[in-house]
Amino acid sequence: MDCKYKRIILKISGEALSGGAGHGISEEIITRISYVIKKISSLGVEVAIVVGGGNFWRGASAKDMDRTTSDYMGMLGTIINSLAFQDALEKIDVETRVQTAIEMRQIAEPYIRRKAVRHLEKGRVVIFSGGSGNPYFSTDTTAALRAAEINADIILLAKNGVDGVYSDDPKKNPDSIKYEELKYIDVLNKGLKIMDSTATSLCMDNKIPILVFGIENPENIEKIVTGDSIGTIIKEV
Ligand code: UDP
Repeated sequence: MDCKYKRIILKISGEALSGGAGHGISEEIITRISYVIKKISSLGVEVAIVVGGGNFWRGASAKDMDRTTSDYMGMLGTIINSLAFQDALEKIDVETRVQTAIEMRQIAEPYIRRKAVRHLEKGRVVIFSGGSGNPYFSTDTTAALRAAEINADIILLAKNGVDGVYSDDPKKNPDSIKYEELKYIDVLNKGLKIMDSTATSLCMDNKIPILVFGIENPENIEKIVTGDSIGTIIKEV
């Protein structure tokens, strides 16, 4: 089957991995997502994953802690998630490599761009963890950065509890409308809180499309790569 995208970055927030609980890891949801990744990988799509860590810790939410320390704690959370993901993928025979932005050689490879690309070319799933390795950034920004570095065709931005970008919070405002397509600049100007502005700007500057979709039904990922119009696409129209 012909796929629409050859190389993708799948950004999954920590919250999505918690299966709606908001904290911790749902092995069930990770397994469900893993089966879909196995499917699209078998279709020939090269899959890199950037995992969030908000199910454990968000740097900015600490009150009295030093922000840098707090952010490092958040980055460590993403590494916990990535190991759970690798375990779930390898249980169903999907060859997976975790790379960390902060060296932790006993448990994963350090991030090396050329090595990551080689893994992808060999059909392995690569999980980028530890964020970008820098405090004051997010894993959305990491997804934008890694997508630029590895020349990904698109970022699939998996959301929990919402299936695209709306003009307002659809849970609070029933009149809010869902966009099918948006320009980066509109996301920035309208202040749409779909990803942080650093991440949006990085995608804009490097012309990386972002597709925002709901992960409650992980099969959406397969539908997207095989060409269905799902969610909201953000690009330079
Ligand atoms: N983080 C960071 N630098 C990065 C990526 C992440 O400092 O490059 C920290 C930051 O504290 C962030 C936390 O890791 O709050 C978890 O990441 P994020 O909030 O992006 O996770 P998500 O919301 O996607 O689950």
